[in-house]
Amino acid sequence: MSAMGRGSGQTPERVVELVREEVSRIGQNATARAIGIPLRSVQKYMDGTAEPTRATLEKLSAYSGLAIGWLLNDGITGKHGGLDFNLVPEDELPKVTCARCGGGLKVVSALYEDLHVEPCETCLEERVKQCLANRES
Ligand SMILES: [Zn+2]
Repeated sequence: MSAMGRGSGQTPERVVELVREEVSRIGQNATARAIGIPLRSVQKYMDGTAEPTRATLEKLSAYSGLAIGWLLNDGITGKHGGLDFNLVPEDELPKVTCARCGGGLKVVSALYEDLHVEPCETCLEERVKQCLANRES
């Protein structure tokens, strides 16, 4: 199964599958044109014998709507981007702390270095209390 050590690289399995699927659907030439890569690359990816560059991965991702991390089977990226938390063990989730109180924040999603976190419960609670206090006075 592994083509490691043969030629100038190895095509990630999901890229092979994607390219093969498109070729069986619309043919090699149309696939090359649609994705915007040379016909020779399409043939190499079908054989699994070339490693796509970052630029090519971006084209494949834009064409298919599949996330680059998922195409590379990095084990944490969801099919359409973000972190797939079903695949990430609790203790390996990115650690984010509140800049104000230092408390831990829950990460909602993550796309590369772009983390989206839930608002800090402690600080929100304080703000609500403050707000109520202001209203009472
Ligand atoms: Zn806080």
